[in-house]
Amino acid sequence: MKAVPNFWFEPAPWIDGQWRRGTEEISVPNPATNQSLAMVTRADAGLIHEAIEGAERAWANWKHRSPVDRGGILKRTAALMIAKREELAVLLSAEQGKPYAQGLGEVDYAASFFQWFGEEARRSYGRIAAHPEAEREFFVEHKPIGVAGLITPWNFPLAQGAKKIAAALAAGCTAVWKPAERTPLIALAMAPILAEAGLPPGVLQIAPGRGSVVGKIFAEHPAVRVLSLTGSTATGSSLMADAACQIKRVSLELGGNAPFIVLPDADLEFTAEHLLRLKLFVSGQVCVTANRVFVHETIETEFLEILSHKMEQSVVGNGLAEHVDAGPLIHRQACQDVGALVSQALTAGAKLVCRNTSFERDPSLKEGSFYPPTLLSNVQDSMPIASHEIFGPVIPVLRYKTVADAIRRSNETPYGLAGYVYGHDMTNCRAVARELEVGIVGVNEWRPLKAEIPFGGIKQSGIGAEGGEEGLREFLCTQVISMPKPFLER
Ligand code: NAD
Repeated sequence: MKAVPNFWFEPAPWIDGQWRRGTEEISVPNPATNQSLAMVTRADAGLIHEAIEGAERAWANWKHRSPVDRGGILKRTAALMIAKREELAVLLSAEQGKPYAQGLGEVDYAASFFQWFGEEARRSYGRIAAHPEAEREFFVEHKPIGVAGLITPWNFPLAQGAKKIAAALAAGCTAVWKPAERTPLIALAMAPILAEAGLPPGVLQIAPGRGSVVGKIFAEHPAVRVLSLTGSTATGSSLMADAACQIKRVSLELGGNAPFIVLPDADLEFTAEHLLRLKLFVSGQVCVTANRVFVHETIETEFLEILSHKMEQSVVGNGLAEHVDAGPLIHRQACQDVGALVSQALTAGAKLVCRNTSFERDPSLKEGSFYPPTLLSNVQDSMPIASHEIFGPVIPVLRYKTVADAIRRSNETPYGLAGYVYGHDMTNCRAVARELEVGIVGVNEWRPLKAEIPFGGIKQSGIGAEGGEEGLREFLCTQVISMPKPFLER
């Protein structure tokens, strides 16, 4: 069992390079045992205002720093994170519940965004454009937009922050980061790392607080020019409404309802292995996880057999223990929400194929918030489990007769985040992938997200993108200067 390291940070807001005390403290539990890891001071409204104003002061210098300097600090941050990856992964696992190995993966993934945007910082190109009048010319320049308000969820509490922070800082913005209520520790753990990498005070403020309070202040404070949220579609909609008052830019990474299409020629062993890994990843609490698994009627029986065998063999337990495939859900309420969707489906005619309750063998997990990985067949499109984000380790299998039917049903959702296509014939797979109304498709791949590419949803899954060269644009605004063209005297 991994032991939680001594904290190298204080469980309190980090503002202008100082740890600050607020008026309210909350307990942060390990969801596997429900035991408190720390009492964390929340940033109240006063501290959030201070954080924004400090970030605005810091922007005056940061925006004029050379992109190479800014990028250098980000790349050093990436290196320091990798040097500390075991401690960060243990903290992630203890606070969020994910298995330690997945924690290590998240640290590497988060660091890859600091590395990527550290490199991209120097690739913000403007242009000189032809003017219709011969004696003038246009300069088109992309400039940092100002202070960014960053709000992140608890499922990837480090990586979701890293994506936003690295892009904002590379662009020349300063930022205030509000981590999720459940996972403030891993965010605060980044403060000394960023400071050691050379980040000046005030450029990134880390302010754990209540979402509804902080979101409103971000929306109302004139210094905040862009609101970047990763969270549920309901929260995105509410933040967008708040931001409308001052016409603020919003960048939203929201919920999903990803289809996972198993074509008749798919390698069933390989597909089942990938599907299970995808669904056990953070125990299914992932926006891009498979929410509806469409399986061709000719292969359904064999596929369910392989999948249930694999599910039975997986180990659910404390993320800090060895050889655990899936950890707990974030809290008890999450278990009840997932349980309600499963019960409704069973009442409406779905069949229970498999449930893995291996965590029940460990008495130390009695108080934890575990939900058993569950495989359901005979799921219908009309069931709530097929239209709601499950956010748990449940695999609902829906049968289809024709590929056209699977595509049509895949797209019958207001979400458009991710999709998966598994099959042998690549031309066919690509054709199916192109028909899916989603931001990203994995063909025979369960985890296609990388720092190098833009990731963002369409429809109610969001606005904008993170990663790739596109990620920088969320934090840049365009200015055109029309200038007289210099001519030599003749
Ligand atoms: P959530 O929307 O409840 O919370 C996300 C963040 O928003 C938290 O920091 C929370 O404090 C804050 N918040 C809550 N109410 C707010 C308000 N009124 N104004 C401003 N901020 C507010 O989501 P969650 O439960 O933490 O995370 C799960 C959701 O996030 C799922 O729907 C999941 O699909 C989505 N998600 C999306 C992506 C993506 O990249 N598209 C990635 C991860 C998670």
